[in-house]
Amino acid sequence: MRYSKLFAPTLKEPPKDAVLKSHQFLVQAGYIQQIGSGVYSFLPLGQRVLKKIISIIDEVMQAHGAQSCLFNFVTPASLWQESGRFDKYGKELLVFKDRKDNDFVLGPTHEEVATAIAKAHIKSYKQLPINLYQIHTKFRDEIRPRFGLMRAREFIMKDAYSFHADTTDLDREFENMHQAYHEIFTRLGLKVRAIEADSGAIGGSKSKEFVLLAPCGEDTLVACASCAYVANIEVAKRAKRAEPDNVPKAAFAKFPTPNTPSIEAVSAYLKVEPFFILKAVVKKVLLDNAESQLAVFFVRGDDSLEETKALNACKSQVPALSLEDIEGAELRKYGLFAGYIGPYGLQHLVPNALVFFDTDLQEADSLICGANEEGMHFVGVDLATFSGLNYQDIATAGAGQACALCGGVLEHHKSIEVGHIFKLGDKYSKSLGAQFLDKEGRACCFEMGCYGIGVSRLLAAILEQNADEKGCVWSGSTAPFKVVLIVANTKDHALDDLGESLYTELLNAKVEVLLDDRAERFGAKMADFELMGCSYALIVGNKAKEGVFEIIKRHGLSKQEMSQQEVLDFLKGV
Ligand code: ATP
Ligand code: MG
Repeated sequence: MRYSKLFAPTLKEPPKDAVLKSHQFLVQAGYIQQIGSGVYSFLPLGQRVLKKIISIIDEVMQAHGAQSCLFNFVTPASLWQESGRFDKYGKELLVFKDRKDNDFVLGPTHEEVATAIAKAHIKSYKQLPINLYQIHTKFRDEIRPRFGLMRAREFIMKDAYSFHADTTDLDREFENMHQAYHEIFTRLGLKVRAIEADSGAIGGSKSKEFVLLAPCGEDTLVACASCAYVANIEVAKRAKRAEPDNVPKAAFAKFPTPNTPSIEAVSAYLKVEPFFILKAVVKKVLLDNAESQLAVFFVRGDDSLEETKALNACKSQVPALSLEDIEGAELRKYGLFAGYIGPYGLQHLVPNALVFFDTDLQEADSLICGANEEGMHFVGVDLATFSGLNYQDIATAGAGQACALCGGVLEHHKSIEVGHIFKLGDKYSKSLGAQFLDKEGRACCFEMGCYGIGVSRLLAAILEQNADEKGCVWSGSTAPFKVVLIVANTKDHALDDLGESLYTELLNAKVEVLLDDRAERFGAKMADFELMGCSYALIVGNKAKEGVFEIIKRHGLSKQEMSQQEVLDFLKGV
């Protein structure tokens, strides 16, 4: 390809809203074009990278037995109503009507569609297992689309759906896909970790996320410094906390604690470690019937409530969709005082509230808790005196706390999720009535798995892992061209001719080469090479007349002189 013909509109300035380098450079170097909020077009360079990523994913998925399909993007809402997700999925689901007033959704994920296909055609265990995947557009009406391709509304996903006769076979395929994902990310040049994760809106029993560590990541993972334990903060476990030495021994009593509406204030006033103070977090639980209910979560004063765990705790009791914060003024309507909420008399004040205690509070005594009166606390509280408390793991596994497996120190790291694999079980096959006949002729629901990769997010992830302050740096397998051939002085005909003949040789050797034939200064061409991020620049400078060429590696910008033959051998080999 000749640079003079390449449509790669570069910008002098990064887009104003770009905070991530991947977003900044993808736009500035002309890989993508924003068309609307969270909606992007891929320009020729972006499309070249995308195709490379897709071909690696295709190859590995197929080598692992999955079959490529292309599912519909527009889906009749009836299918989503049947699965029960039409009302549950939330506002990310874009719903619209056709001219006949029928409801449709733009597919944010395709469990329903894949299940409907299996239901129509797979009648016997003999046709199982099967794994169908696609690489296609998704639409999710994200509340805060941002960071370019990282969190878009329209994006490209690889989503696979597998169908099995039993859970043993689903377990086997889950491991098979786990292996496939490792191969895919390794071939893409990404360093990822597989971590324990929450199953979110997709559902199912077990899931693993594939993430890369990056300071800009929107997710947090919890990793043990001593053993291999690593999990998304949304599900991360910790060991039972060690009790501090200075236990506040007091007989059970109500105690005036004026002006202590925060844990810090009570702690300072009573000279008690926050560990021994019960923190109450009140949330409004939105239910699938559009009604809501209060939930009160108790954790230790120096712990924080983990919202995903809290929502999952609610889901174990009621059809909860999401949690919302609740203001102090609204609390007062229930007779609750922010900062003074405790378990005594709570059921009387809010009879319908869901009440949960963090598992770390099991058998806890010598506690301080709010007395449900302004300016009053109870001291000497022993939770064993209550019966039927609902203990659940609802607190965040904090940095510095102990690993549940080995007692090592837990650390927090920011991360980017690039893939997620789920064991769905029979969640969708049951709701959509997708059945097959087993060996004994009994009708059974399929055991299902699903496996996603954020294909367009990968462009951003690769750059977050590799880019430097000058621009994009792609991995070897994803760069839009392997080498940019730059003639230092195009006015020098001898150099120009050398450049042209090298270009032809490289093309003949099937090396992906971009000949920078533009009438630009050498400095400008180098700057564009650095911004675009192809793996190498091959410089045809003055020494070329003596047969010496310079190869610059984009990663680290190291330079090396080579003869023409060495250049060809080198570029054919890397
Ligand atoms: P997130 O927590 O980032 O919203 P998710 O759990 O909703 O992700 P899945 O439903 O598992 O994601 O989708 C599979 C993959 O699609 C994710 O691992 C991620 O890489 C990608 N993905 C999800 N949402 C977006 C988005 N808004 N923009 C780009 N890629 C996305
Ligand atoms: Mg999401």
